[in-house]
Amino acid sequence: MENQVETICSFCGTGCGLVVEVENDKVSKVKGHKENPSSHGETCVKGALGWEYINSDRRLTEPLIRKNGKLTPASWDEALTLIAEKFSTLKDKHGPDAFGCFSSSRSTNELNFLAGKFMRTVIGTNNIDSCNRT
Ligand code: SF4
Repeated sequence: MENQVETICSFCGTGCGLVVEVENDKVSKVKGHKENPSSHGETCVKGALGWEYINSDRRLTEPLIRKNGKLTPASWDEALTLIAEKFSTLKDKHGPDAFGCFSSSRSTNELNFLAGKFMRTVIGTNNIDSCNRT
């Protein structure tokens, strides 16, 4: 059974309209949405063809922590605790401007806002950038 879902491409800040065809709960095709007022059915190669990762069995589904040189599945609590400890150690040793963050145009505006807030208020640096400002 095939369904069509209208959405917006999240690869970059242009926001082209897409129609995603879904078969058996999996994306089977993506094409431009002709009625989208900004893109009129056009897409670039990323919007039209860069979706196969969605169904890839190589996608990460859980945190991995390197232990004895080998990436090992871990709980979110374990991974986030380790990250917080490492960040605190690095911040104490090198200061907040030792950190930098590249946010993503694949994230929502709200997530990009949170990334900025996190870097400025928790880490204490203005070192944040993203490809979605273009
Ligand atoms: S189709 Fe291309 S130009 Fe349009 S939003 Fe996606 S990445 Fe950007």
